[in-house]
Amino acid sequence: MRIQCPNPNCPNPSNIQRFEMTHATGVSSGYSPTIGLGRDSEGDLVYGLAITRSQTNSKIANETAPPEDPTKKTSWAVPVLVFMVIFVFVAWLYVSETWYARNEIGDIDQTGRIIKIVLASGFTIFCFVTSIYVIISSSRSRKEDIKRYQRRIAHWRNSWICLSCGTRWRQK
Ligand SMILES: [Zn+2]
Repeated sequence: MRIQCPNPNCPNPSNIQRFEMTHATGVSSGYSPTIGLGRDSEGDLVYGLAITRSQTNSKIANETAPPEDPTKKTSWAVPVLVFMVIFVFVAWLYVSETWYARNEIGDIDQTGRIIKIVLASGFTIFCFVTSIYVIISSSRSRKEDIKRYQRRIAHWRNSWICLSCGTRWRQK
């Protein structure tokens, strides 16, 4: 069966194209020369030639663009994790330094020491729990992103546009 525009009022139902093709032809790059002619401040005739390289995404190319690939997106989870690990490490150093100081110098202020230990332990636990949460939630949302992308790209590959009337549809 020939694929045709589903619009019953379409003037030319066979003038159809895949989104993939429409997108590819809509993104064009080229050189456009511009010649200018005029008079300068002394009244002499001057001319100039400029060649500009241009890449243009036509409106139709943007509308038929494929969905964004989530694996090409940079994730913020890794830098956050690196920061967290450094933070945990520093907090741990702080705790051990406090313990060391207590064992070496007996007359350190008792309350100050307890506050330091509680704060440092609290930070360490906080960072640890947050890191685990970030890992679990980012890997879960990444899997969902990839699944959604696979569904979208399959839809996109089956999407057609009618160049006569503008109807878009998905071919099953
Ligand atoms: Zn049509």
